[in-house]
Amino acid sequence: MAVWVEIDLCNGCKRCIKACPYGAMEFEDNKAHVTERCTSCGACIEVCKQEAIKTDVKPKEIPDFSDRKGVWVVAEQRGGELKRVSLELLGKAQELASALNQEVAALLLGHKVSGLCEQLIEYGAEKVYLADHPELADYRTVPYTDVVESLIRQYKPNILLMGATHIGRDLAPRVSRRVGVGLTADCTELNIDPEEKILLQTRPAFGGNVMATIANRYSRPQMATVRPGVMEAKKRPGLKGEVITHEVHLSPKGLETKILEAVTEKKKGVNLVNAKVIVAGGRGVGDANGFKKLEELAEVLGGELAGTRVAVEEGWIPVERQVGQTGQTVRPELYIAFGISGAIQHRAGMMNSRYIIAVNKDPRAPIFQVSDWGIVGDLHDIIPEMISRLKTQ
Ligand SMILES: Cc1cc2nc3c(=O)[nH]c(=O)nc-3n(C[C@H](O)[C@H](O)[C@H](O)COP(=O)(O)OP(=O)(O)OC[C@H]3O[C@@H](n4cnc5c(N)ncnc54)[C@H](O)[C@@H]3O)c2cc1C
Repeated sequence: MAVWVEIDLCNGCKRCIKACPYGAMEFEDNKAHVTERCTSCGACIEVCKQEAIKTDVKPKEIPDFSDRKGVWVVAEQRGGELKRVSLELLGKAQELASALNQEVAALLLGHKVSGLCEQLIEYGAEKVYLADHPELADYRTVPYTDVVESLIRQYKPNILLMGATHIGRDLAPRVSRRVGVGLTADCTELNIDPEEKILLQTRPAFGGNVMATIANRYSRPQMATVRPGVMEAKKRPGLKGEVITHEVHLSPKGLETKILEAVTEKKKGVNLVNAKVIVAGGRGVGDANGFKKLEELAEVLGGELAGTRVAVEEGWIPVERQVGQTGQTVRPELYIAFGISGAIQHRAGMMNSRYIIAVNKDPRAPIFQVSDWGIVGDLHDIIPEMISRLKTQ
């Protein structure tokens, strides 16, 4: 047996029973016993003050990753235009790389896209790995995966970040599978552990009820995707970056998928991600008429209207205006939340706004924890007052 209890040493404190995530410890005759559900995870051993729980499983060794260097961002472009999320990720990559004393690099795949290297350097890429090939003109899963894989194998990065866009969500899992590493999708926060120097990847888990921080000790690169609007793009003036042209070899088998036609979906005219001011409402707004008043306020402020999932489910606003874990992630200069309780799933989409004002009649509403200013009161009194004061300014 890999884990067992030295019965004579066990004092029946039951700490191990509480600590076991698999329910593998049982209690009988005032002593703990290990059952076949045990996975040898070692959680019980860590909490046993009597040192009564023994194992013959050797701790997993952390491989030597000293040759793994660099924080990489897959720069997404479409039709020769960089997606904003790539620049946002470069902003975060600068922070991570400085904590690790490593460099920031961007991977740019496409055809005739070398003109974009300058912009990537301006936003913090010290190196740009450029893979330029006619077959890479439009995104296709297999050729793009082949190229990113070959770059990883050749240059051995430490961290690889991608946008959680349609393309990133297709490409990232393929790449992670190919190179045999884990992937944390839709991260809302990325940091470097100051002691272990590994990437701490935070994302909502268990239906958004908790924020989980995930770390990968045993494989490289550490891979994460981040939704647009979560991180902040930062220019790095004066940076002299280097462009490294990567020789592209594509197997004919990977080119079997052909793009016959690209149909661009018409934008529905909502641009929450780039909005400077967002006026958002929740259940407390009460009905569609309440949202008309909010829309008026948004107009006066030159901002966009948004809301919680409840507001969408009630049919007060369309789904493309939903902010949160399953909606848009926004980062305006000003976010005003009316009648929004501040559930974790909503906060995940707006907590990086520069300034947050919350209006709620409940002084204990969690939204106040992330607000810069709070107004405790009835939104039906406050909204007309705000509109009239702003109009007479
Ligand atoms: C997997 C999952 C994903 C989710 N994704 C999202 C998401 O992307 N976005 C999202 O928003 N939610 C999401 N949710 C739902 C989320 O958990 C909450 O249920 C939701 O955000 C609550 O919306 P709310 O704040 O409008 O309503 P409530 O929580 O009911 O809050 C209403 C607030 O209005 C206040 N209020 C009432 N009347 C007034 C008044 N007259 N004046 C002032 N204040 C008033 C109340 O005090 C209360 O705080 C998700 C849930 C799950 C499980």
